[in-house]
Amino acid sequence: MEKDKRFAVPGDFLGTSEEFTLGKGVYDEGGNLYATQIGEISITDKRVINILPAVETPPMLKEGDVVIGRIEDIRDTVAVVSIACVKGKEKREIAAPTQGVIHISNVKKGYVSELQQEFGYLDVVKAKVIDAKTLRLSTEERDLGVIKAMCMKCKCDLEMKGNALACGRCKRVEARKISEDYGKGVV
Ligand SMILES: [Zn+2]
Repeated sequence: MEKDKRFAVPGDFLGTSEEFTLGKGVYDEGGNLYATQIGEISITDKRVINILPAVETPPMLKEGDVVIGRIEDIRDTVAVVSIACVKGKEKREIAAPTQGVIHISNVKKGYVSELQQEFGYLDVVKAKVIDAKTLRLSTEERDLGVIKAMCMKCKCDLEMKGNALACGRCKRVEARKISEDYGKGVV
């Protein structure tokens, strides 16, 4: 992977101030450089490091909007969601690829120790926008969370079994923050 094509989320360690000159979207903490926003890492010829915002907030996204998206990445403290559409405006496609993040504190009521226990890669989730500027999302409410997930092994859809998801083929059971609308095919 090319170094300048890497993607950062807030708090990602980028390098040291000896390696790079501070650019936009980056802060320096005791000589260590961290990302302040979501975006692509760009390093110029003069070793200036910038985070180019990948997120152009579509004007229609506002606080309280419910969005449908796919889990693209799961980090220690955030899950990255690529937003596909806004509930109630499904016919209006989001022009630019738009990414939001679900912070570990906004997954559900109660303590979450591991995000991997709540989301899986490529899960379809329903989430609410709680900060339109930074595109922070929440899945705390009962109807929010994972609405579609597939078995990592068989690639078939998982079925809801009590508070977990199970694969009908290999019987594998996976934990998720499940929406009460899971598997209904409705958003
Ligand atoms: Zn399976």
